[in-house]
Amino acid sequence: MNNYSTIRNDWSIQEIESIYHQPLLELVYQAATVHRNFHQPNEVQVCTLLSVKTGGCPEDCSYCGQAARYHTGITVKSLMSKQDVVAIAQRAKDAGSSRFCMAAAWREVRDNRDFENILEMVEGVNELGLEVCCTLGMLSESQAKRLQEAGLYAYNHNLDSSKEYYEEIITTRTYDDRLDTLKHVRKAGISVCSGGIIGLGETHADRINMLHTLSNLPQHPESVPVNALARVKGTPLADLPKVDSWEMVRMIATARILMPKSMVRLSAGRAEMSTEEQSWCFMAGANSIFTSESEELLVTPNPRLDDDKKMFDLLGLKPMVKDKSVQVIPVQ
Ligand code: SF4
Repeated sequence: MNNYSTIRNDWSIQEIESIYHQPLLELVYQAATVHRNFHQPNEVQVCTLLSVKTGGCPEDCSYCGQAARYHTGITVKSLMSKQDVVAIAQRAKDAGSSRFCMAAAWREVRDNRDFENILEMVEGVNELGLEVCCTLGMLSESQAKRLQEAGLYAYNHNLDSSKEYYEEIITTRTYDDRLDTLKHVRKAGISVCSGGIIGLGETHADRINMLHTLSNLPQHPESVPVNALARVKGTPLADLPKVDSWEMVRMIATARILMPKSMVRLSAGRAEMSTEEQSWCFMAGANSIFTSESEELLVTPNPRLDDDKKMFDLLGLKPMVKDKSVQVIPVQ
């Protein structure tokens, strides 16, 4: 077995292919070993994701139930109040979450009253001692700076897939737009959360190419969500087959080996996974899950908090307590 004990940003496609395509048990064993070198294997970070503005998005992401152009039947909701958001964040903290992510279905952040309200929400949630994350669409350098000054800890902006496959699923913005936002986030000294979705109809080569892009960024994203497509009726991808959980295990294990220090998050798709299937993901190096008190991850189903608690008890997992004092180093 290779000694994957160093952080590298120079992975070749061939190296990633040879990791990804290994026999599954060998891959999981290697990933579990890396995981134990860099993390406490019995700790899993519980993150709460809250949709603070739902639906009505002008973008055309083929998988998304919040795109206005698809008839998905979701209820469009305008921006929540700071008071309601902070109250939900407090309950999330009381239930064991250490990270709170606020999502708004926007193409991009605009310099308007809504952005001022978001900044106030960031301040309010930050005061609770939670890691505050936002996912608000594209972001300029000056907006990233203002979020950082308000106390934002992390910004999520997923690459979704490979550069090559991206234009098959989204046409209203480019892959380079995504990468530019990640640069702005990094430059502002905010930690980067960026991963992807499998099951969009992409090939194994697309998955490998996406992992190649993420793992060869000048600094690995501190957070890498791995999502399985949650099929939403009314979207162009609604009739694709369910993602096989072993595909998730393979993806998580490869991400863990390539980006050893990152938090690898088992994200969308858990509602369709058994406890056994999720256990394999934890064994492969996933060390975070998302919860929400509405039992929805944005607009798709998510497991019940009680079921997650039972799973943690069964597996001997405990919610990770995060040290927010860890500094994020801006890249100029
Ligand atoms: S994924 Fe985000 S940007 Fe794309 S349609 Fe949905 S809410 Fe809009």
